Parts: sequence; structure tokens; C-alpha cells
Amino acid sequence: QATSLDDNDASLRNDEPPVHGLSEVVVGVLGGGQLGRMMCQAASQMAIKVMVLDPQENCPASSLSYHHMVGSFDESTKVEEFAKRCGVLTVEIEHVDVDTLEKLEKQGVDCQPKASTVRIIQDKYQQKVHFSQHGIPLPEFMKIDDLEGAKKVGKLFGYPLMIKSRRLAYDGRGNFVAKSEEELSSAVDALGGFDRGLYAEKWAPFVKELAVIVARGRDNSISCYPVVETIHRDNICHIVKAPANVKWKTRELATEVAFNAVKSLEGAGVFAVELFLTKDGEILLNEVAPRPHNSGHHTIESCHTSQYEQHLRAVVGLPLGDPSMKTPAAIMYNILGEEEGELGFQLAHQLMKRAMAIPGASVHWYDKPEMRKQRKMGHITIVGSSLNNIESNLAILLEGKGLHDK
Ligand code: ATP
Ligand code: MG
Ligand code: MG
Repeated sequence: QATSLDDNDASLRNDEPPVHGLSEVVVGVLGGGQLGRMMCQAASQMAIKVMVLDPQENCPASSLSYHHMVGSFDESTKVEEFAKRCGVLTVEIEHVDVDTLEKLEKQGVDCQPKASTVRIIQDKYQQKVHFSQHGIPLPEFMKIDDLEGAKKVGKLFGYPLMIKSRRLAYDGRGNFVAKSEEELSSAVDALGGFDRGLYAEKWAPFVKELAVIVARGRDNSISCYPVVETIHRDNICHIVKAPANVKWKTRELATEVAFNAVKSLEGAGVFAVELFLTKDGEILLNEVAPRPHNSGHHTIESCHTSQYEQHLRAVVGLPLGDPSMKTPAAIMYNILGEEEGELGFQLAHQLMKRAMAIPGASVHWYDKPEMRKQRKMGHITIVGSSLNNIESNLAILLEGKGLHDK
């Protein structure tokens, strides 16, 4: 029996135009690196259009995006021009022109997460002030403006003392460890001097580093991914183990701290919360990223909803997906540039080919045009029945790679 559509189809009764598919909102991403690339991959399944703004002609996201606007995400006119073409603006890097984001927001442009969040996060000192005001546990920290000030902080916090630049930090570029008072001035010089904006952090004697990806929907619903362990080498994320092999109570505490940290920020999207676990079982916050994160790459293969899909769902206002793991365990191994140029490409190629023979392994290559030492060029995720199992598979993979990597 025929029924009238107008009576039964709610979507045709309200004033919203009909949606043909999941979302017709064009998502604009500031930055077109590997995170933007993997966002585009998730978007393609849902037929969500993702545009990227990145200065590099052949950036990793370029070939997979709906449109790549070549230009700097730190340049006002470019960001404004870009914003005109998008329904919602988001980021895959926090070092963007936040003054312009704030101005655009006032004009009605939809930024997710909010510009205020990006502003807090892009200045690591401001970030620490914000989280300490919200009762989040973190290592003691203090601004340093001159050598005398730095020496005072050194006396207060002791050595080693972590000196960090407030802005534009990534992969540890922006951190310097002073082992004694004598090393303070070279630490400051190495970071570009006090004019760059520096602060000091008390050394966190961690036994493990943990991370939690937290998603927040437009309706403010919050959903946390399983706690992972991150292993850094030379300050760069090297290996991620999911789930973290820590006590149940530690996982609960880490999730709670991450949840509260994200609750204190505004806007939708996924956030990554980097944490320290001390020998006494204390959890301290290291930093938060307002975007998908290296510690969540494994979710592509190991979770019901990947962090990239989750981020898109969040910013366009779709229901959040299930963040739980669909495999018992996963390990992510970053493919970092080992040598400059052609030799570096060859070594990475050999590693990836060997990975293809490992059960449960998936290979991701970001297609960066230039190979540089320590640069994130791709990653390998191995899923399996237990962390032990996967660890032995990873060891087999790395065996052909030279002793320093074992
Ligand atoms: P990312 O690439 O994660 O953005 P980043 O350049 O912002 O890195 P941080 O996360 O501040 O740098 O620090 C990098 C690493 O340095 C941490 O993961 C940790 O291993 C170490 N680290 C940072 N702060 C401290 C601290 N206060 N005490 C001890 N180690 C620390
Ligand atoms: Mg950082
Ligand atoms: Mg970090």
C-alpha cells in the first residue's frame, strides 16, 4: 500500500536539504602530510570530500584529496581563500595560522576543533598552564627568559632538566636536555635562544610512555580508544604497542586523565593525549595533539573505527564509531629515513618487501618526494593474537636490518 513520503520520512519533513550519502559537507584540512593522507583514505570509503591546504605540490595527501590547494596553512590570505571553499575546517598539524582561524570563526566559519583549542595547544607552555588550571597531573614546568632564570629553575627542579621551545616543536625538535647547570647555555643556544620562547620542565622519570586517542563528537559525546604504549627513539615515536601492557588500574587512570584533558578543550575531532607512567603508577600528561596522531595509526587495522574515520565523523557531525579493538593486539613500527636520498629509499623498500611476508602485517608508504634521515616515511602495522606473538614477528622483520635496530 502506498504511503505518503511526507508523513513517514522525517528527513523530508524538516527544513534541512536532503543528503545524498553520509555527508555533503566538504572538509578542509590544514596540512597535507601523512595524517591528511590517511584522512583522505578514510574519507574515500564514506564518499566524504576532503580538501587539503599544503605548500608542497606533491605532499602525501595531494593525490588522494578531492582538491589540493597549494599554499601555506600559516599564511592568512591562503587560509581565508581555502576556508571559503570548505564546509568545515580542521587540522592535521597544530602549527597553523590561528589568528586567521579565530577571525574566520567570528565570521561564522565552522572550525573543528575550535581555534581556541589550537591556540592553547600550539604554545606548549600555554598548554601546560591550561591543563594545570584544569587539575590535570603533569611534570612541573616554568617559563625561562634568561640564563639566570634558567639556573634558578635548574636549582628548583634538579638535573637532568628538560628545556623545550614553546612553539613549532615536533619529533623532539624543540627539546634539549641539560644534564647540568654548565649545559644550560648550550641547550638554550641549540634551541635558538631565549627570544624563541622557552620553558623548562622537570625531568619525568617515566617507566613507560602511554597515549590515548580521545574522540569528541559535535554533540560533545566523548569516546576513548584503548591505551597504547609508545616507544621513542631519539625523541621520535618508533614503536606503538596496542593495547599497552600495563595493569588494569593504570589503563583506567590513563583513560581518565586523557578524558579530562580533552573535556577541558573545545570542539569536535580526535585528540591524542601523550602520557608518562612513573614507577609509582602515577600518570602525568606530556602533551596533547588536536588531531589524529602517530600513536593511533594502528587503529586502521586493529579497531572497528579508525582514528581517521572517527575524526571525519566527529567534524562533520556523524555519530562516533566504535573505538574498541577488533584484533587482540597490534604493533605499529615507523619507517624512518635511515639514509639521505636514494640509499634511504632502497633500505625502506627492502624493509617493506620483507614486511609483506609477515603474517598480519600491513604496509603504509606516504609517498614523500624526498628521503631524509629520521623522517617519517611510512609505517608497518602488524596485528595478531598477542603482543608476544607480534613482537617475535617484528623481530624477524627487523633481523635483516642491522644490529642497531633490534
Ligand atoms: P611530538 O612529535 O610528539 O609532537 P615533541 O617534539 O612535541 O614531539 P615532546 O612530546 O615534548 O616533543 O617530547 C618528546 C619526547 O621527549 C617524549 O615523548 C619523551 O620521550 C621525552 N620527554 C618529553 N618531556 C619530558 C620530560 N619532562 N621528562 C622526560 N622525558 C621527556
Ligand atoms: Mg608535540
Ligand atoms: Mg610528543
